[in-house]
Amino acid sequence: MAKEAVLTQDNVMKRGRTLCSRCFLCGETFETVNHLFLHCKYTHHLWRIFLSLKGISWTMPRKVAEALLCWEEAGVHAKDRGRWRIIPGAIWWAVWKERNSRCFESIENNVQKVKLNCILLLVFWCNQLYSNDTVSIIDVLDSI
Ligand SMILES: [Zn+2]
Repeated sequence: MAKEAVLTQDNVMKRGRTLCSRCFLCGETFETVNHLFLHCKYTHHLWRIFLSLKGISWTMPRKVAEALLCWEEAGVHAKDRGRWRIIPGAIWWAVWKERNSRCFESIENNVQKVKLNCILLLVFWCNQLYSNDTVSIIDVLDSI
């Protein structure tokens, strides 16, 4: 089994950079891909937006690849599966942007703003992929 990479002070110092090994969003544990995108309590708020809309009871898988498989299964009754499949990418992009904003610009947005950014990004991407009609936020959220 592959061991998950963790940025520690030692391996950060070897590269001559000053990076924080703690999660930039919650500050409670090491930042790993699986923590940042799946298990961070901050990221959890973004997943809840869409799970709540569909009334889905969800136990977060351990790894990102597993999460994508489970997300595909959870979306079997989605009205528009194409849009459903975009959601994890929108969540991860919103989280990644917020993480980098905190890391590199020392700008911290509250979770409500990041949730809104995630939804707006999803709508933007849906409008880019389905360019025949421009759809509203309500159209997109109603179609997943
Ligand atoms: Zn975290």
